[in-house]
Amino acid sequence: MSLDSTPGATVPALSVRDLRKTYGNGVQALKGVSLAVQPGDFYALLGPNGAGKSTLIGIASSLVNKSGGEVQVFGVDISRDRSAAMRLIGLVPQEINFNMFEKPFDICVNYAGFYGVPRAEAEARAEQVLKEAQLWDKAQMMSRTLSGGMKRRLMIARAMMTKPRLLILDEPTAGVDIEIRRGMWKTLKEINAAGTTIILTTHYLEEAESLCRNLAIIDRGTIVEQGPMKALLAKLDVEGFLFDIDGHLPATLPNIEGTTMHAMDDHTLDLDMPRAMDLNRVFDALNDAGIRVRSMRTKSNRLEELFVRLTGDEAAAKREQAA
Ligand code: ADP
Repeated sequence: MSLDSTPGATVPALSVRDLRKTYGNGVQALKGVSLAVQPGDFYALLGPNGAGKSTLIGIASSLVNKSGGEVQVFGVDISRDRSAAMRLIGLVPQEINFNMFEKPFDICVNYAGFYGVPRAEAEARAEQVLKEAQLWDKAQMMSRTLSGGMKRRLMIARAMMTKPRLLILDEPTAGVDIEIRRGMWKTLKEINAAGTTIILTTHYLEEAESLCRNLAIIDRGTIVEQGPMKALLAKLDVEGFLFDIDGHLPATLPNIEGTTMHAMDDHTLDLDMPRAMDLNRVFDALNDAGIRVRSMRTKSNRLEELFVRLTGDEAAAKREQAA
């Protein structure tokens, strides 16, 4: 167990301190990352491609060697007791990597076999995880005949064979359509509700928003924001709207104090305003300028905006200046 755990304090499911990784080619994938994921949490590691997400979970699950820093899984230091730490983790990699010519039941049973689970126990467990993943009726079919969504759920079921306390998924829904994604979300929510801590990496903001209670946003090897999802969303003080205009927009748009606006096209107005501002002021000003609003919609997911603000080139330049 952790040497520095105090009695009564909860040992995090994952504790990462000042984690650094420089690959052989000199790329600094992680530049001193620290975070803690509490037991029972559903945690998102969010960031654009190349941010360092896969490197971070690769290190946590002992597939990638770290260059510096400390990682503990439920208090077990991965450098001191690699195999104990690995036994606590179930990993669902990005690519489907089971044998397509095996049956889901055998895939699950054989996987548990690698971890030394006795056959009878593995068979009972396979039935349970396949039922939970809504795959029990496919248990004896050739895996290659499963749909894309079923294959993804089989990846999750297989990882659950060893009863991991921490399930880590690397971009679990990359490139899959929304229906499959929703099915996977349901499975993951149930696994989390039953007590397994889940960490996933994603660049789908919608995914993080709908599943996760806490998150870290990582960009270019650095954590740029972390905390409860709700607190992050509350930080957003600007709301964006798109107004569909009746007729044509005038060449010169009215100036409404505190807002920024521009014409997307001849009849669509893009407007950002402080969240505290009264929308009626905007309507009045538009009305006065002879602009009639036919309909309006919020411009984008608010998390999306936060993400762009935190991980854009401008934000990165500011961080570098401050460093
Ligand atoms: P993400 O998962 O957020 O897309 P990665 O952790 O895969 O990010 O990559 C972070 C950075 O490290 C990228 O610049 C990537 O090109 C680099 N990188 C990842 N794996 C390797 C590797 N095996 N060798 C060299 N560079 C790598």
